[in-house]
Amino acid sequence: MNIVHATDHDAGGFRAGFVAILGLPNVGKSTLLNAFLGERLSIVTPRAQTTQRRLLGIHSDSAHQAIFIDTPGLLKPRYTLHRSMREEALSALSDADVAVVVVDAGFGPSVDWAGEFAASIHVPKLLCLNKVDRIDVGRLEEIERALACGGWESVHGTCATQGQGVGELLEAVLSRLPESPPLYPVDELSDAPVRDFAAEMIRETCLEELSEEVPYAVAIRIEQFRERGGDRPVYIEAVVYVERESQKGIVVGGGGSMIRRIGTRSRGKIERFLGRRVFLELRVKVLANWRKKTHHLRVLGFRVPEEEN
Ligand code: GDP
Ligand code: MG
Repeated sequence: MNIVHATDHDAGGFRAGFVAILGLPNVGKSTLLNAFLGERLSIVTPRAQTTQRRLLGIHSDSAHQAIFIDTPGLLKPRYTLHRSMREEALSALSDADVAVVVVDAGFGPSVDWAGEFAASIHVPKLLCLNKVDRIDVGRLEEIERALACGGWESVHGTCATQGQGVGELLEAVLSRLPESPPLYPVDELSDAPVRDFAAEMIRETCLEELSEEVPYAVAIRIEQFRERGGDRPVYIEAVVYVERESQKGIVVGGGGSMIRRIGTRSRGKIERFLGRRVFLELRVKVLANWRKKTHHLRVLGFRVPEEEN
């Protein structure tokens, strides 16, 4: 991961840092992250339930930048078959400035887990009691009492699917970030995660818009990613590669209608992700049988479907 520290100004009241989201599988971490970031920003692919690695989502506003680390389930060793997942989650935690521990309020073991795990968190920690829509107030109070000695900065009831309580939790997270200039300027070409997210959002939109046989023939390459001064939008130029002329026709659509549609929707997703206006230019090109050369394409920086080899 390439983190570019801005050096030309001091923090000036700005806060920035890493936020680990921790909890057992299925408690709602990804949903919460997406709610924090506004839309479906942790790249919810059809494989979303099997988050295996750390994902970044960035919330930026005029005074804060929170870089969220979505973690795979962090289980106690005696329960887990996935040591590497646990290690990744622990390493996410050691990088973090703030931890959000998520509990499924309707699922007792996740509450117990939070109680036990709290002690190994040595950064400011916030407790999120999620899925409050599934329980009554009495149970919520019971959980709060059970977890009261966890050393939490604050405790938040949320319903991540409906966004309830999410804004307050986000405010609490932002207020605990250390004073620091932004860690991720969006204009940095070396800022691979942001470019990668942009490519993935375009690819995801293609998957959603195109009929069955075309999407897996789609690869995205970001040609340019430039932040320009002032209020001007971030300029992104990307190429949608397909394998055959016939597929190009489908992706472009009659009078360019399909590629415009893909462009408009992708731009919306990228804008919500960056918190900035974006000018997105998409072109469609044929690269014959690129799927046969997937490995080479990855090396060249293409975003290609994982299904292929
Ligand atoms: P993760 O494994 O911790 O990342 O959990 P996910 O975000 O994938 O969520 C697991 C499931 O719980 C999904 O089906 C979500 O739609 C659901 N879920 C998440 N938050 C809530 C909530 O607040 N209320 C309810 N009822 N379901 C939720
Ligand atoms: Mg998840």
